[in-house]
Amino acid sequence: MLSDILSPETCAKCRNCCIFEKQSAWELPTFSVGAAARLADHPDYPMREENGRYRITLPYDETGAAQPCPFLDPDSGCTLSASEKPFACSIWPVRVMRDTDGLLRLALYRGCPGIPAESHDALDKLLENGLRERIMEETKTDPSLILPYHPNYQFL
Ligand code: SF4
Ligand code: SF4
Repeated sequence: MLSDILSPETCAKCRNCCIFEKQSAWELPTFSVGAAARLADHPDYPMREENGRYRITLPYDETGAAQPCPFLDPDSGCTLSASEKPFACSIWPVRVMRDTDGLLRLALYRGCPGIPAESHDALDKLLENGLRERIMEETKTDPSLILPYHPNYQFL
């Protein structure tokens, strides 16, 4: 959804996403029933159901070292089909977060080198051309998209 301003080539070079340290496991997206079913019998990925979607626990050891999402292929990227890929992944590095007044806001991950400050005007334009409404609409059917505010993000 952000391909107009963030190219797959940029992400392929960066490769920062889809791998989660224990301290950032709260950012792991929730998955559809179909995607989660593929891991149903996998002892390394216990899952819990949240409003019809599934949150996976990654197999962290005591060091909390980063673990890849189980749907990541190191060579080809995400292995999920478009219908199974979490909406949260399709809008990354934009998130929906609550501000201190409890209002839902869009927020951008500060550490994404693919959307530097020079690209923020283009991102704003994309959001105002319908993407903001599309994202907010999606939160009505998938509340797992709504995250608490974290200082690694800036509100848009
Ligand atoms: S941090 Fe940004 S540029 Fe890097 S892989 Fe993630 S979305 Fe792409
Ligand atoms: S579902 Fe796909 S895009 Fe999302 S974190 Fe996992 S591998 Fe990455």
